[in-house]
This record gives sequence, structure tokens and C-alpha cells, in this order.
Amino acid sequence: MSRNVIIDDAFIKTDAFRERFERQISPEPNTGCWIWDGSYTTFGYGKVYVKTADYRAHRISWSIFRNGANLPSPGVVICHSCDNRWCVNPDHLWPGSQSENMIDAVKKGRMPQAGRRGDRNATAKLTRDEALAIRNSSGMLKLAAEEFGVSVSTIHLIRVGRTWKNL
Ligand SMILES: [Zn+2]
Repeated sequence: MSRNVIIDDAFIKTDAFRERFERQISPEPNTGCWIWDGSYTTFGYGKVYVKTADYRAHRISWSIFRNGANLPSPGVVICHSCDNRWCVNPDHLWPGSQSENMIDAVKKGRMPQAGRRGDRNATAKLTRDEALAIRNSSGMLKLAAEEFGVSVSTIHLIRVGRTWKNL
């Protein structure tokens, strides 16, 4: 399905937009990934709203930090070297075509993605009730991480159902 949206990328060139974008990044010290601390698409990519349109956060990040604040050309897929869809670290992003992205996915064995084991250490720190409270929480990852005394990635993984699957 293609949407014929006329892409106006003037918005990503403003300091105000960049500052707003940067406030929604939570770096994860172990992996170096930048976890998107905003809303998500149903496919697990970070999402940025601009006026009435929404954009994938990692494409915006690559545009801001790697492409002189220009959106990628149509047909260019921004791929993750870290395989974490929610990551917006420009160092983990590279531009490719859809077919390169598929080849990369097959090579890395990420198609289809098998249910990964949960992060045991992070899981062990929480009680079932706390995990449930996190699953039902909303708002910024950073704030929930402070509230529960765990990392932003722990909060994220619980909310997306990657850990504590059987709540
Ligand atoms: Zn990453």
C-alpha cells in the first residue's frame, strides 16, 4: 500500500523539532541502542507525529543526524544493524533498498523472529504485580523506569510483551 503523501521535510530542519525529538530518546547503555520513548506503530517502530502525518522515528533520526535534515529518498529503507526496531541511534541505521533489507533479515535469521528469551535479570527484580503495573502503565519510559527502579529497556520489553509474557 503506498500513500501519495507530498513530503514536506521543512519541519525536521527546525531546532524546536530536533529538541522535541531528542527529548524522546532514552539511550540504553548496554547495547548502545537509543530506545524511542514515544508512541509506536503496530509493527513496533517508533512513531513521530507531525501535523496530521506520522513518520517512523528511526527514519527521522537518520534524516536529522546522518542526512543533513533531509528525509530519505522514496524507496530507500532505513535498516537497523542492531535489529531493534525501536532503536533510533543513527549509528545503528543504514540506508538500503527493500530487497537489501530482506536479504539482511534472512542472513541474520530474523525471519520470522522467534520468541526470544526474556531478560532474566530484569525479570527477577520485579514481582508479578509490579510487572503487571508496568504492562498497564503508559507515558514516558523514563518516568516509569524511575518509578519502578528498573531500566528503560526493562519497561519497554514488558510493555511490548517481550518479557513477562504470561501476565
Ligand atoms: Zn540499536
